[in-house]
Amino acid sequence: MDKKKKGPQCSFCGKTDKEVRFLLKGDKAFICDLCILESSRAVADMGGIPHPEDMPRRQSNPVAQPPAVPFTIKTPKEIKEFLDQYVIGQDVAKKILSVAVYNHYKRITNQVVNLDDVEIEKSNIILIGETGTGKTLLAKTIAKLLHVPFAIADATVFTEAGYVGEDVESIITRLLQNCNYNVADAEKGIVFVDEIDKIARKSENQSITRDVSGEGVQQSLLKLFEGSEILVPPQGGRKHPEQKMIKVDTKNILFICGGSFDGLANMISRRMNTHAIGFNVNQQEQEDKKNNILQYASAQDLKRFGLIPELLGRLPIISSLSPLDAPMLKSILLTPKNSLIKQYSKLFELEHIKLTVEETVLDFIVEKALEYKLGARGLRSMCESILTEAMYDTPGTKVKHVTINLSYAQNIFNKHAHTLTNYTYS
Ligand code: ADP
Repeated sequence: MDKKKKGPQCSFCGKTDKEVRFLLKGDKAFICDLCILESSRAVADMGGIPHPEDMPRRQSNPVAQPPAVPFTIKTPKEIKEFLDQYVIGQDVAKKILSVAVYNHYKRITNQVVNLDDVEIEKSNIILIGETGTGKTLLAKTIAKLLHVPFAIADATVFTEAGYVGEDVESIITRLLQNCNYNVADAEKGIVFVDEIDKIARKSENQSITRDVSGEGVQQSLLKLFEGSEILVPPQGGRKHPEQKMIKVDTKNILFICGGSFDGLANMISRRMNTHAIGFNVNQQEQEDKKNNILQYASAQDLKRFGLIPELLGRLPIISSLSPLDAPMLKSILLTPKNSLIKQYSKLFELEHIKLTVEETVLDFIVEKALEYKLGARGLRSMCESILTEAMYDTPGTKVKHVTINLSYAQNIFNKHAHTLTNYTYS
């Protein structure tokens, strides 16, 4: 220890209080922050309590800044192959998304930026499709593949600043929360903004009255989508002056918007009829086109629907999802990596029970999901109601097999579950 140094100094390394961040005073000694860290590491190495940096980080700490997690870029084909494992059908949307996401991440990892001074601009995406067709699932699955932070926001909860409701910045709060407030990670994240169609302005030339939930919110979102430095309240909600804000640059955040755009199909078919499309096509082709008319959606249609041109300018990639037909719904029940039937089978397997759901039951579930126009959303609740009784009865018994047959499923559906004994235990 250097006795000539002035003032208190660390009794272990000899550094003065000027050379370290802080000195902790003991009975007859001092210890500096560096030696505390060193000794805590030594304790961990000797099998004691883990070093703080090795411990899981607490979600609630708004100042935690773990190092940025490196992410690997996948080629569009790899992205699509990964999506195929989880999302049934929607090939066109998958391809468009795979390319868009690939280009986006190529751009932000600087591999081709400024090549010959060509600056590649960000391309946010808009997904149009009926409810339960896989819009959110696509965005979620991409985030899973790329290991980037992901947040889902519902556009309907936002209002223009100054009105009751959430500020649009709270989207970014969610993103920050999902990566433990690591700003560098959040700045490369993906945000899915659902129900974007619900903030459409009510008519194309509305200007006199204030449209609190529509155009104002679109204007606020514009700021986020185009990429700017914004101040985000760490806990979300409304901003208030005393709150400490976190600065986040949204330049490299990929925004994927989704909406069902009810009524858009009619607008498109009217436009297409006036353009006399489909003169020389056969009946079947006409029918297919009609069923999947959203694939022809253009920025003009979306403008007519009520999205402002500036916002559309920031959402240059438009893709549509097709309605799910019976074979697709059946496939959703069975084939994805975490399909519903696989999930329920696993739940029973954990009780050492083999679950068999008869083919006719699957067809019945699909038929009802189509009838109620719920897309794939209806499948889980149907499965849940059909299997609840068995999941309640069998744990802790000697039952080894559960077979669900059609009459049992039909009866449950008709809400007479209490009178049923029609699924077989053996
Ligand atoms: P939305 O289009 O309304 O965003 P979601 O992506 O939230 O629909 O889908 C709701 C649920 O339905 C998902 O959790 C998923 O299980 C299932 N699902 C919807 N579409 C598909 C699909 N194409 N492939 C597999 N599962 C799907």
